[in-house]
Amino acid sequence: MNAPLNIAMPAEASQAPKTYKLLIDGKHVDARDGRSIERSSPGHGFAVSRYAQAGAAEVEAAVQAAHKAFETGPWPRMKASERAAVLLKAADLIETQLEEIARLDALESGKPIAQARGEIGGAVDIWRYAASLARTLHGESYANLGDSMLGVVLREPIGVVSIITPWNFPLLIISQKLPFALAAGCTAVVKPSEMTSASTFVLGDILLEAGLPAGVVNILAGLGSDVGAPMVSHPLVEMVSFTGSTRVGKMTMAAASNSLKKVSMELGGKNGQIVFPDADLEAAADAAVFGGFFNAGECCNAGSRLIVHEAIADDFLGAVKALAGKVRVGDPLDDRTKVGAMISADHMEKVAGYVTAAKTDGGSVYSGGGRLASNAGQYLDPTIVRNVTEDMAIAREEVFGPVLSVLTFETIEKALHIANNTPYGLSAGVWSASIDTCMSVARGVRSGTVWVNTFMEGYPELPFGGYKQSGLGRELGKRAVEDYTEEKTIQFHRGQRTGWWVG
Ligand code: NAD
Repeated sequence: MNAPLNIAMPAEASQAPKTYKLLIDGKHVDARDGRSIERSSPGHGFAVSRYAQAGAAEVEAAVQAAHKAFETGPWPRMKASERAAVLLKAADLIETQLEEIARLDALESGKPIAQARGEIGGAVDIWRYAASLARTLHGESYANLGDSMLGVVLREPIGVVSIITPWNFPLLIISQKLPFALAAGCTAVVKPSEMTSASTFVLGDILLEAGLPAGVVNILAGLGSDVGAPMVSHPLVEMVSFTGSTRVGKMTMAAASNSLKKVSMELGGKNGQIVFPDADLEAAADAAVFGGFFNAGECCNAGSRLIVHEAIADDFLGAVKALAGKVRVGDPLDDRTKVGAMISADHMEKVAGYVTAAKTDGGSVYSGGGRLASNAGQYLDPTIVRNVTEDMAIAREEVFGPVLSVLTFETIEKALHIANNTPYGLSAGVWSASIDTCMSVARGVRSGTVWVNTFMEGYPELPFGGYKQSGLGRELGKRAVEDYTEEKTIQFHRGQRTGWWVG
């Protein structure tokens, strides 16, 4: 029996929780009914934040502010270079406040602080990339339509965008959406997860300081049912950009259909890493542990299924288990921590329930397997489950915890069958020294991203999104700003066309 984790209490534990007001039309306001949401640090157990809790009245005010800013404000009308300058200034300010923001995300989500710093650094890079795209967004022209006709296709901002984000990468995920919407000239109403709203409020202040006009970005904390739902169905909203679970994504898409809104959906995943005998097995073992346990497995891209060739399974899994045993679990604020706390007690029980069910269904716990005793917070042991079969819930559903399910194969066809045998299609990894094997897997897997001899790397230049029930549309990449635009076709006729129908 391991000694209980000893979680040190940070200075914030003896202070009152930080308070955050809603951001509507450039002003910081409380909810009209005075309600608020208190968030406790899942790693330590003390109240870390209190946000004003929005409801229907605040959604109405925020959408009206965004609509006014779009219809009459300067943001959609200014030069792209001026919008880019605001985004670049925002990136600089995020960078200046990186440590503070990383600490907020670590405290509210339970993720390790060193990892949070990396995420905020990645977000800064994305804001700069979006600024560069703002200046290269352009339409098309057609001079090949005859001597009297010039066709011009404009890219115009789509309008008010409702942006809804989850709790697992608070500042990073809003940064995959908002800067591109702003680069296009849109205005927005933003709802972060009710568990991790603090860094999004800090971002709101950064944007005002960077020169964003009032009303262009409005930020609401609140529940999905009270705030997210009316943000999606509001008739003045033209587009919904959602990241979260497939279940809520489907509800959101149905609600957005009331006024035929454009939707962008980044949803769940059940991703496989396929390991062949000719791979660099040391690197693949490290990637298996990283893929399974990064962000405590609370990651849409988690490599939660390890699909290993029979011939190497025992030796390879021995190496994976040895590495898993070295993963440092504990205090999110400790620089050495690799796996922090689980987001909530309920979620931890749900994850543990998958392991229990797998045991009942014939799986066996090969490493880890349970809750970790600690003086504070909620922690799970990184867990490897063997003898998993494709029909088990643990192999098909998004577990969203530090649990690696092992399945084995003998042929490449079987490996592909396993990889594709889920309703999801977000990402996959393949490890092999053979270019033919890598190409066969990369082409055969039905997912939005395939990593070949690497795993879970991301670049703003590369589009990201899901096949099947993992989503709709792509984020990042060179078309990310276009996503927040409408195309308008204009036909210019030389002289006024006459005598062309009954006249
Ligand atoms: P969730 O679906 O429960 O919630 C996501 C957001 O939707 C939250 O802000 C929530 O308040 C809001 N919401 C809830 N009900 C709503 C409703 N009826 N209408 C509008 N909004 C509503 O997801 P979560 O638990 O916060 O996050 C985890 C999920 O997010 C996982 O499934 C994960 O795979 C997914 N995710 C996907 C990506 C990706 O890029 N594909 C990235 C991160 C997380």
